[in-house]
This record gives sequence, structure tokens and C-alpha cells, in this order.
Amino acid sequence: MRNNTKIVATLGPASSTKEVLKPMIEAGVNVCRLNFSHADHETHLKTIQTIKEINRELHVHTAILADLQGPKIRVGEVEEGTILEYGSELFITDKPCISNNKTLYISYDQFASDIEVGELVKIDDGKIHLEITSTNKQDVVKAKVLHGGPLSSNKGVNLPNTKISQPCLTKKDLTDLAFILTQPIEWIGLSFVRSANDIVELKEHIKKANHHARVIAKIEKPQAIENLDVILDVTDAVMVARGDLGVEIPMQTVPVLQKKITHACLEKAKPVIIATQMLESMVENITPTRAEVNDVANSVMDGADAVMLSGETSVGAFPLQAVEAMHKIVADVEQEFRGTRAYQLKEMHGQRYISDAICYHSCKLAEQVGAEAIITMTHSGYNTIEISSHRPPCKVFAFTNNHAILNTLSLVWGVTGFYYDNQSSTDDTIQDTKHILKEHGFVKKDQLVINVASMPIKERGMTNMMKLSYVK
Ligand code: PEP
Repeated sequence: MRNNTKIVATLGPASSTKEVLKPMIEAGVNVCRLNFSHADHETHLKTIQTIKEINRELHVHTAILADLQGPKIRVGEVEEGTILEYGSELFITDKPCISNNKTLYISYDQFASDIEVGELVKIDDGKIHLEITSTNKQDVVKAKVLHGGPLSSNKGVNLPNTKISQPCLTKKDLTDLAFILTQPIEWIGLSFVRSANDIVELKEHIKKANHHARVIAKIEKPQAIENLDVILDVTDAVMVARGDLGVEIPMQTVPVLQKKITHACLEKAKPVIIATQMLESMVENITPTRAEVNDVANSVMDGADAVMLSGETSVGAFPLQAVEAMHKIVADVEQEFRGTRAYQLKEMHGQRYISDAICYHSCKLAEQVGAEAIITMTHSGYNTIEISSHRPPCKVFAFTNNHAILNTLSLVWGVTGFYYDNQSSTDDTIQDTKHILKEHGFVKKDQLVINVASMPIKERGMTNMMKLSYVK
């Protein structure tokens, strides 16, 4: 069965072979995420080739999301058995050394100058908290342990209150980006986004390389929440990266924020992914917990475009079962629950007004006449993403001769793509699209469908036409 809410699966050692990945894609994975915090380019290249091979064999359009690490800070190597005791004091340094409970190395060379007394350092997913007691603004920083515990090598460090001067795209990101931009990748995730400018900068690199990849802003810093509105104006999509977000801000504030971010994304027609720990217990167990099932279900009810699997599929013991479980939860919720989204016609200005008005009215019309499908002709995907953002009560099919866009749209709620390259006349095209959908069993004779396109079709202009008709 075909779900509206898409599934993003992070690939890793547990899931990168064709034998494991092919059944996962058959079970419902729409987007494969390659995490550039892990693995080398050679490994990623092999995985990309495997995904493309499976796409050809299954005639599907699985998208690839390359997720850049961003300015992730980590502790380095730590002496075995290190425990940070509550109330103790330690030095923090940016000079590489083996850490212990007296001296702690962290991988951030502007640390001493950026940090202020009283600010917090959170380590290992927020399990350990330190408070800065002094800094000479050059190389000597002292901190007190507020929450202690065992510390092991390479754990992540979060500085929630600190104004970090490091750029969003690090040296490592630029090297990874140079590789990514030689590959057929549809989405690039940018970690620890703080401002709209972070997105603009990444987009400049993509444009310079003449690449089609679109950008996903990972929302995981308090500064990104403050700047959400302007970030949404420039990004192509968003990920609610709840792992780091729940360390950077009080974790109890994340659920409401998830709803607010999702709502804001729908308003601006920016696809939104809900990520991290969705079925976390399935890293080890063959079934999820009831609370995890509820989490996925609630994300679907919030209106997310996609829900994401991380460790469950990258390193877990049951990658296929995790996808199957997620698919079943989404299917069940979508059958029982029809979200109520108040369609809104966007303000009457701007270049895109005619397109937006057609997209809005196609959804309204679909609702009024009980149409089975809205069928778009698209080159950039704009009309399709706009229609999807209204969450219409029918299927959405996109016909395009742009291969990259077919894959790109795999992330977008409710959209199924078809390759189509006969642009002789609008009438012929409309007949063709209906015929193709009927052949595939997506629509039946005498059902109403709505076609949305740009006329004249050869000019590939903006959407300006809508037609309601029966399937013959
Ligand atoms: C997250 O923090 O939730 C996240 C998705 O980012 P990453 O997995 O890259 O740490």
C-alpha cells in the first residue's frame, strides 16, 4: 500500500548492501540518508551506486539525502574508566590530548575565546553537564561538573548558550560537499544551522557546481528557532533534528516546537522531516515500544512530510523490520485520521501568484467534487510541492521529464512521480497522464481527476491551467 507520509532511512553498515537495502526500499523507504559524520567517500560512493541500481531494478525513484556533519564538537580519546564526579573541577583544552577527569580535550579551537563564564557544556547527548567557571579567552578554561558520570571517547559536545564563531560549513563539510556535488544526490542536509545566511552560503556552492541538489535545514540550535521564519524563506526543506535539539534546548519543549515547526513549514510549502529516536528501541529489539509507535503516529498527525529512521536502520539489528514497523504505523494512522488543514490562498502578490492560486483551487476543487487525484505536469516540482503542502484529500501524481525532480519529490507528502516526455499538446498530455495512471491501477474509469499544468506546455512556464475531467 502507498502511504502519503514518506520514510527516510539512514544507511550504514547494517543496511548498505543490496541484499538488505532492496527489501527495505520495497518495504517503503522513499529517501536514503547518507550520514557524512560517518564513513569515507569510497563507502558512500558504493552506497550511492547500490541505491541507483535498486532504483533501476524496481522502477522507483528513491531520493538520496547527503547529511553534512556541520560544526559538530566532540571530545577526543578518553582514558578508559574515566568518571566525572559531581562538583569536581577540570581544565578544558583545545590542544589534542588523551582526556581524563582532570583535563578534557574538545575539538573546537575557538572554544576559550567563544565561551563565557556561567555557560553550559553538555556532553554525550546531554548526560554530562559542566558549567564554565573561568576562561582566559585564549587557551585556559575551567569548568565545574554539574551532572557527572562515566565518559568515553568521541562523545558529542553541545554548547547551547554559546555564540559559536565557527562557520556552519566546516573544512570537513567543504571536502564532503566537493564529493557530494559530483554525485547524483537530490537533497543536502546542513547541520547546526543558525541563520538564513548558512543556507544561502551552501546554496552558492551548489549553484557554482551547477548541481540540482536542494537544501534541508536541520533545526537543532536555539538560534535556528529564533530565526526560523527567515530560514524557511531560503531553505528548500527542514529537518526537526530532535537528537541535538533536545540537548540544546530543554527536551520537554521539543514536542510543542515540533508541532510549531511542522505548521510553519506547511504554511511556507517547505517539506519537513521529523527525525531521531523514532523507533530507537528497534536498534536492539524486533518490535518498537508503545511510546515509539505513538511518536511516529503523532508526527503523521502533525502533518510531517516524512518520518526518519537513524540508528534503527544504519547500525541496528533489524533494519528491515524497522522500516516495516514504520510503514505499518503510518498506513494505519493515515487510514483512520484525515488531518484537517485549513487551505489558505496566499497573498495576492509576487510572481508566483497565478501558480499558487491554481494549486490552492485544485485542492479546494478536489475536496468539493471528491476527485481521486490531482495530476501535475512539472519541471521544477514547484506546483507539486505547493499542492502537497495543502494536504489535499486525494492522491497527487507528478509527471515530469526531469529525472532529478522525480527523485527529489520522493520526500514530499503524498506525491508519486512518473517520467513523461511527450509534450506535444496539452490535450494529448492530459489524456496520456490519465491513461498511464489507469494502466497502473491508480485511478479507475468514471473517477474525477484534476490536471494542473502550464499552457502552452512546450514553454515550461509557470502553472496557469487546471482541468477537471473523468477518467475514460
Ligand atoms: C539529530 O541531532 O537529531 C540529527 C538528525 O542529527 P545527526 O544524526 O546528524 O546528529
